[in-house]
Amino acid sequence: MSDGTARDGATRDGATLDGAARVGPARILDGTSIATEFKAVIRSDVAAFVARYGRVPALAVVAAGSDAPSMVYLRQILKSCETVGIEGRLIELGDDTTPTSLAAAVATLNADPQIAGIIVQMPLPRGLPLRAVIDVIDPVKDIDGIHPLNAGLLRLGYDGFLPATAHAAVEMLRRSDIPIAGRTAVVIGRSAVVGMPAAFLLVKADATVTVCHSKTVNLAEHVRRADIVVTAAGHPGLITGSMLKPGAVVIDVGINVVGGRLVGDVDFASASTVASAITPVPGGVGPLTNALLLSHLIAAARRQAGEVVPTGVRST
Ligand code: NAD
Repeated sequence: MSDGTARDGATRDGATLDGAARVGPARILDGTSIATEFKAVIRSDVAAFVARYGRVPALAVVAAGSDAPSMVYLRQILKSCETVGIEGRLIELGDDTTPTSLAAAVATLNADPQIAGIIVQMPLPRGLPLRAVIDVIDPVKDIDGIHPLNAGLLRLGYDGFLPATAHAAVEMLRRSDIPIAGRTAVVIGRSAVVGMPAAFLLVKADATVTVCHSKTVNLAEHVRRADIVVTAAGHPGLITGSMLKPGAVVIDVGINVVGGRLVGDVDFASASTVASAITPVPGGVGPLTNALLLSHLIAAARRQAGEVVPTGVRST
């Protein structure tokens, strides 16, 4: 069933405080309730795994440094593990982590048969190249899809582990019955872990996609053409209502701490009066990312036990 077109196309007269045409109030895309539905399924998959193999699958969460938004995200994942019966193991490497010590920690987890999946805090602190992880992490345990094998499978359209955040951004649209095929999408951010995989997934879902980044000239011009805006820049207030096409769908992936509060990249107050649908921060992409990560984890555990299963929920 798809009711997104009607909602997305609706317009009302009037103008917002920042001068944009008014459409909203936007439908709030509630990641927490979608995640709750996912977690119920994951919980029963984990229970079935434990009954079959007599052991609890474990997720290793590697933190190199103490970046505040990343730590918030990692703690939420560990909490989510508990709620579905997965063992979550936090490996804190501290601020003096070197590429060599990070690679060694990942190699140790590769060799640990209890560990079904490994994720590493992203973005990595300055001085720690992504290669320290991707050169080492076992692709079968790479449930956040950063290994070149999984990234390549995504690029080629095959089944591999997807980066969970990018997966969540697109799954949010699907679960909310928002059509993607044929629509114009703008992704803000070109990182290997969020922006680019989100763009590839949207292309795979038949959107026409523009990727914007820190060197993009006149971001607003691109954003204004988009039916779907996915922002993953880590820049609070980057997207305001006046930049949006009336009726656009806004998926805010950004996580920023401002004055002790979590906010996204989108100025929610102005954007929600112009957009037809919008994710809140917190409570949008974040909880769904966690749930999808756990679905990747149970798929990894089952694959390592010799079962033939897909790598998680399909995104398109
Ligand atoms: P990153 O720093 O690696 O990449 C940021 C990207 O945004 C870059 O490509 C950069 O060019 C672009 N950018 C930065 N400022 C910009 C600007 N002013 N205009 C246009 N583009 C700009 O970060 P990342 O790892 O890709 O994460 C992006 C955001 O998503 C961060 O806020 C991060 O905390 C958040 N995040 C959220 C989740 C989640 O589950 N919701 C998970 C991971 C990351």
